Amino acid sequence: MKNYKVEITEYLQRTITVKADNESDAVAKVEGDYYNAKEVLDYSDHTGTDIEIYNPNKFIPKLDLLMQRIDKFNKDRDWDQFHTPVNLAKSISIEANELLECYQWNDNANLDDVKEELADVMNYCLQMSMVLGVDPIDIMNKKMDKTEKKYPVDKAKGKSTKYNKL
Ligand SMILES: [Mg+2]
Repeated sequence: MKNYKVEITEYLQRTITVKADNESDAVAKVEGDYYNAKEVLDYSDHTGTDIEIYNPNKFIPKLDLLMQRIDKFNKDRDWDQFHTPVNLAKSISIEANELLECYQWNDNANLDDVKEELADVMNYCLQMSMVLGVDPIDIMNKKMDKTEKKYPVDKAKGKSTKYNKL
């Protein structure tokens, strides 16, 4: 048997090394072991292994897994009842201010604190996307389409001027 490195770069961004007789057996082995989304999610918490990622199309995208995790977290606690759009909009704003608070007295905020507050903001943004039934990637790309038009490179490059004053 030879060692095969199997890439799953789309999701875990690592490589799994498996022993197999040929390449297709190696791929099948990795798919068998890591096809289950829960296993993949759990695996991401582990470190110090040889794992990478193979065949992204067979895996649930990382963002979808995270959204499922957030959804389950709330359903398990019966918290969906509190997550109205207005409550989530308030929560996003509150967490954004907690993020800002990290820098209140010091421009060099503690990175661990910043990461936690940034995560709070983004998790609430994802929750709001779910409550509204919108795809977060889709709405961000649509907004990028608009922003790219508002700030054409030839006018905006190197400037922080608002689009209506360019
Ligand atoms: Mg917070």
